[in-house]
Amino acid sequence: MIRVANLTMQLRGGGHVVSILKGVSFDVPPGQLVSIVGPSGSGKSTLLGLLAGLDIPTAGSIQLNGHEITTWTESQLAHFRRQYIGYIFQSFHLIPTLTALENVALPLELNGAASAQTRARELLDTVGLGHRHGHYPTQLSGGEQQRVAVARAFSCRPRILLADEPTGNLDSATGQRMIDLLLALHREHGSTFVLVTHDATLADRTERIITLHDGMITSDQHAPGTPTLDSCVRRNDGVGDVDSGGRGDDGGDDVDSGMRGDDGGGGVDSGVRGDDQGVRNS
Ligand code: ADP
Ligand code: MG
Repeated sequence: MIRVANLTMQLRGGGHVVSILKGVSFDVPPGQLVSIVGPSGSGKSTLLGLLAGLDIPTAGSIQLNGHEITTWTESQLAHFRRQYIGYIFQSFHLIPTLTALENVALPLELNGAASAQTRARELLDTVGLGHRHGHYPTQLSGGEQQRVAVARAFSCRPRILLADEPTGNLDSATGQRMIDLLLALHREHGSTFVLVTHDATLADRTERIITLHDGMITSDQHAPGTPTLDSCVRRNDGVGDVDSGGRGDDGGDDVDSGMRGDDGGGGVDSGVRGDDQGVRNS
């Protein structure tokens, strides 16, 4: 479960402080598919990055299944992200020097999975790229690259899936197929899924729509009959064992796959800070 309380994010720009998030609070029950919508610049990507532990908020709380992640060290966050979070970017963020198969296998290998290549093959088959295993990102269309990115994000069976405008760089037909794929994988995996989009037709297909304006939530609508926190609070979404590695004992030998760098390994470790593809989500 995701629990966000009074989240504030301020950044310094041009000599003055800019408030990007101004006291955002919401809960997401396990397994829920929620979309976050709002105009460009309203703080959607910032919020998603905070949920992934990519940034530290100025103030406020983010609890993932009861664990306060805002106090974790970078090493603890990196461990957590690799194990529990899948992240899909608008601009794909594949590693250009790795094939499709290697891109999908990498987070599995970083997690020490024994059959990384086999699972990566299966995942690529699932997203309809069985014939593209050996292709490099530049040899793939935008839609195909995003399907590789989706396969990678799901590779470690993340409890929490975060997607930032996953259809933003796709034409509408390809975007529709991407949405169908994401929704099907969400149903199959039961991950908690937070989807940032400004595509209203996409948002309408989710269980709940949270609207951000200028760093504040201005509406939070549940589709009729979908789970709310109260109906889910007793369910266990399985993130509870994060303590086994998330705190303290992951130490110096933990393989941090470059969250702050540019090598882009795991679902979320895909060059957020490096942004070598020059496409800023908006
Ligand atoms: P959205 O994803 O909704 O378009 P963002 O979260 O990317 O919005 O950005 C929210 C606001 O924060 C925008 O006004 C943006 O210009 C500003 N912003 C984002 N990142 C930075 C940064 N690193 N430094 C200064 N301002 C930033
Ligand atoms: Mg954005």
